Amino acid sequence: MEIKLAREMGFCFGVRKAIQLVEKEAQGRGLNPNITTFGQLVHNPVVVNHMAKLGVSNVDTREMAQVQDGMIAFTAHGVAPQVIEEARERGLEILDATCPLVTLIQQSAREMVDQGFKVIVYGDKNHPEVKSIVGWAGKDTIATMEFEEIKDMRPPKRLGIVSQSTQILEHFKHFVAQVNDQFLGKTKEIKVHNTICAPTTHLQSSAQELAQECEVMVVIGGKKSANTAHLRDICEAEGARTYKIEGPDELDPAWFEGVQTVGVTAGASTPDESIEAVVARLKAFDLLKQVQENKN
Ligand code: SF4
Repeated sequence: MEIKLAREMGFCFGVRKAIQLVEKEAQGRGLNPNITTFGQLVHNPVVVNHMAKLGVSNVDTREMAQVQDGMIAFTAHGVAPQVIEEARERGLEILDATCPLVTLIQQSAREMVDQGFKVIVYGDKNHPEVKSIVGWAGKDTIATMEFEEIKDMRPPKRLGIVSQSTQILEHFKHFVAQVNDQFLGKTKEIKVHNTICAPTTHLQSSAQELAQECEVMVVIGGKKSANTAHLRDICEAEGARTYKIEGPDELDPAWFEGVQTVGVTAGASTPDESIEAVVARLKAFDLLKQVQENKN
């Protein structure tokens, strides 16, 4: 069985930078660093456990009141300005690990609002990144991935669209085409910023290329990781039998019976150690298969 690895996979630079920032701060603050991340630093249990070992806890994003003192770390997803204000009012120290590419999306949406655009953020309205973009753009901003939710709105004079950084480009294009169909002619100006980030685009195209060559794809990432779920969808769309797992213990040897090529990819929040552990287990399965075949 040939095990092929995606050209690009695992941590994107924004996630890597956020982890390094929090790690460095925790290590510099001694035994009890008293740092709480606002939500999970990344949606991956291995990283969350690693942070816990460094003394970094996390709090649900609806529960800032639980953080009494010390430092609050904002994740790569960013936060709304109101959240920063609340942390200041509570007297908390702030560590801002917002990915610079998310900051660009927040700024882009805000600028459009300031220029009189009604803004739509194409993304999961419950995702922290989308909430942060909406927070910067203002309460009249709409977050959705469903054209049905906006098709009956009164055509605004000017309409702006940005995307969550980790969306699938083809889906975004489809959404934009639907909006154009409905509003062009009724709305004076429609402005679209493709704000899907370059690391996401590379990750997705690498997974797509590999899925075209492989019978089975293994996609590694946290259960709550949206970008990992997108990789799974992309691999499935290419016709590869695809399994999304968090780590090697979920692999089942039966998935690989009679399989000649298996591809491995991983979401932007998946640490190298998880990828290495999965590849090692796949190699062990293969070795076992060879021993059994030789016996027969
Ligand atoms: S996926 Fe893109 S925007 Fe999000 S943290 Fe990574 S590099 Fe930044």
